[in-house]
Amino acid sequence: MATNRTFTMIKPDAVQNGHIGAILAKINEAGFRIVAMRMTRLSKESAGAFYAIHKERPFFGELVEYMTSGPIVAAILEKDNAVEDFRKLIGATDPAKAEEGTIRKIFATSIAANAIHGSDSDENAAIEGNFFFADMDKY
Ligand code: UDP
Ligand code: MG
Repeated sequence: MATNRTFTMIKPDAVQNGHIGAILAKINEAGFRIVAMRMTRLSKESAGAFYAIHKERPFFGELVEYMTSGPIVAAILEKDNAVEDFRKLIGATDPAKAEEGTIRKIFATSIAANAIHGSDSDENAAIEGNFFFADMDKY
């Protein structure tokens, strides 16, 4: 995968609250192209696998519970400097600490139900994109 791609998920709180359209508009306005997109619902097994890196953290059980509570929208996005620029667009993990205008500041409910995921490195963008889109290089 090229380093100009990142992976995102619109999380269950944002989907349930009707924010899919508004969040995609912000993503497009920020210059990202949607390369692939799919709405689905995670099983406990797949949510646990996706967040396996956090399995020893105290919030892991709550995170899996939340991420399986409703449908999500998974997407691969393309832009120069995609990973870093997208993390800036979504804002800090805790919406109370996120900058004004960021997606989490505007749409998140709490530190757990924080509206959106963004990969934290090119390596993880490739792993996470392939998790949902099997062979993401075909997109
Ligand atoms: N999370 C949580 N409680 C915490 C920290 C994180 O519920 O104290 C959840 C939250 O949904 C977050 C996800 O776990 O987005 C992954 O955590 P990470 O530290 O990787 O934050 P991110 O990279 O999503 O900003
Ligand atoms: Mg993370």
